[in-house]
Amino acid sequence: MPPERSKSVPIPIHRSASHTPSMMVNAKKYLSDHPQLLDCPRCKAHGETELRFVNGTFTYVAFFVLLIAGILILPLFFLWVPFCIETFKDVEHYCSNCKSWVGTFRRMGKST
Ligand SMILES: [Zn+2]
Repeated sequence: MPPERSKSVPIPIHRSASHTPSMMVNAKKYLSDHPQLLDCPRCKAHGETELRFVNGTFTYVAFFVLLIAGILILPLFFLWVPFCIETFKDVEHYCSNCKSWVGTFRRMGKST
């Protein structure tokens, strides 16, 4: 007979010392293109993240859409738009305290 293990509840090995331990677990679901109130996984400081806008999949998709549209309708002058406007970019979140990377919000695909 194998030992009965199905009834035991798995206990998380790592638990945050902060008052909102569940926040970090689901934090990455809530990442957006705005500063997020999070507990930093490294220094445990609770605060708003700093943002850095980086080119992501959506930036290049928007670029190709504009490229095709540019050939047909628009002047190609608009091609620079996805690379300069934050709306088209992925957003990296950094802790405002220790500057460590917290997560990346992607407009296409899975946020990490
Ligand atoms: Zn930190």
